[in-house]
Amino acid sequence: MGGTFDPIHHGHLVAASEVQSWFGLDEVVFVPTGDPWQKSGRDVSPAEHRYLMTVVATASNPRFTVSRVDIDRDGPTYTIDTLRDLRVQLPDAELYFITGADALAEIFTWRDAEELFGLANFVGCTRPGYTMDAATIDAIPSQRITMVEIPALAISSTDCRERTSKGDPVWYLVPDGVVQYIAKHRLYAGSDEPDAVLT
Ligand code: ATP
Ligand code: MG
Repeated sequence: MGGTFDPIHHGHLVAASEVQSWFGLDEVVFVPTGDPWQKSGRDVSPAEHRYLMTVVATASNPRFTVSRVDIDRDGPTYTIDTLRDLRVQLPDAELYFITGADALAEIFTWRDAEELFGLANFVGCTRPGYTMDAATIDAIPSQRITMVEIPALAISSTDCRERTSKGDPVWYLVPDGVVQYIAKHRLYAGSDEPDAVLT
């Protein structure tokens, strides 16, 4: 499951858990993006903070892991590179790429879109406020795409950042450890710069 995870929230975690259970997956690998090319219009938090929040959020689930492939690769993150790197690391695995309906709706704007379907199965999770248009679903090879209905959680990272910058709570929208991580490192605090992370 790729994402900016700025911050990771319970919408991501429920989607991952539902898809793990639906397909009986051995492992869900969360892959925080490096430099997300589609979000170049806003300041994205340093990759190490997003990586560590993802580790904190997933640590208690034995089937959840976090990969550094995208944050350790220079340049903008493209899903085609993510899948190629994971394929090298897991040569025998059958890969499923988990996305929300909003991200999947954009898939044909992604680099080397047609090649993506040769590398992984795609799983589109329902997300409140977003619908997939039939033309996009029809254009994806049908054996490579599954839409999965997940319990609706109208949570977004954008809303979590805005709440934090206004001093509103994000308790129960994100895992407790992530609430504490955000406070400790003064993320999304408006004028304050977040702590630098040593790498
Ligand atoms: P932002 O508001 O910064 O875009 P986001 O909440 O959309 O953040 P991303 O990191 O962009 O989170 O999303 C990573 C993946 O998780 C995407 O495929 C997205 O569609 C999916 N996703 C995010 N939130 C939900 C949710 N509440 N329900 C289902 N899928 C979600
Ligand atoms: Mg998003």
